Amino acid sequence: GSGLMAGKRGVIMGVANNRSIAWGIAKACRDQGAEIALTWQGDALKKRVEPLAQELDAFMAGDCDVTNLDSIDAVFANLEAKWGKIDFVVHAIAFSDKDELTGRYIETTRDNFAKTMDISVFSFTAVAARAEKIMNDGGSLLTLTYYGAEKVMPHYNVMGVAKAALEASVRYLAVDMGARGIRVNAISAGPIKTLAASGIGDFRYILKWNELNSPLKRNVTTDEVGSSGMYLLSDLSTGVSGEVHHVDCGYHTVGMKSVDAPDI
Ligand code: NAD
Repeated sequence: GSGLMAGKRGVIMGVANNRSIAWGIAKACRDQGAEIALTWQGDALKKRVEPLAQELDAFMAGDCDVTNLDSIDAVFANLEAKWGKIDFVVHAIAFSDKDELTGRYIETTRDNFAKTMDISVFSFTAVAARAEKIMNDGGSLLTLTYYGAEKVMPHYNVMGVAKAALEASVRYLAVDMGARGIRVNAISAGPIKTLAASGIGDFRYILKWNELNSPLKRNVTTDEVGSSGMYLLSDLSTGVSGEVHHVDCGYHTVGMKSVDAPDI
């Protein structure tokens, strides 16, 4: 086959529907010749993911709830049985109780703090450990983060704390896995209207603010995160590891509201 991802095989975790960031990355990789495997979370989402998998001729690698380590093991056993080895992994998974994605961070409960960290942070490390065992010719791992890791964003709260830990994990994993030729990176995506984002308070306001104040004066698209993700998974980026790459229409460079931005 031809394309920048020809000959590469990998698993993409976190497709819920056709608005998922993971779906944008899956399409971009397939367009460039990759063979894709998808996981899904539970029977309800399987119904949505199955037709999407068919569109990309993707392997349905297993039902995976990352709070259940056995289900992660099963996915990687299925991938090894199917392909023997893999070249890339996308982790586009995060969760926090909606009630804590609004108001003050200080009110975060211990239970939801632990759950948010388990699903949104530890799972990437758990996946990396299993991927390493079947990345026989090196590889590339990618996770998704947000600027709320670096700066305080309204309502992002415990998820911002989790994304900061996820970004630190990217750096530690990059060192742990580098000797085996495995790269580890994150994309810090600008706000996009997805299922997960709908849980965040005042998300429409956040979208509008980014549109008016980013250097490109618009919001980023799922396809743009997809193609940047494909770059980080491809051999175009063999010199890049431990990086948090912003795909946000430049918003992270801006220190202040535009003087010409209208009120929202
Ligand atoms: P999405 O709702 O389409 O995807 C979130 C995915 O997480 C779903 O597929 C869901 O099944 C999965 N998930 C949640 N809990 C899980 C669990 N216990 N086990 C397995 N899977 C689980 O939303 P999205 O916006 O595409 O989110 C993908 C990633 O992108 C997340 O890490 C999110 O934080 C990040 N991100 C999103 C935005 C945005 O504005 N949408 C911006 C920056 C980063």
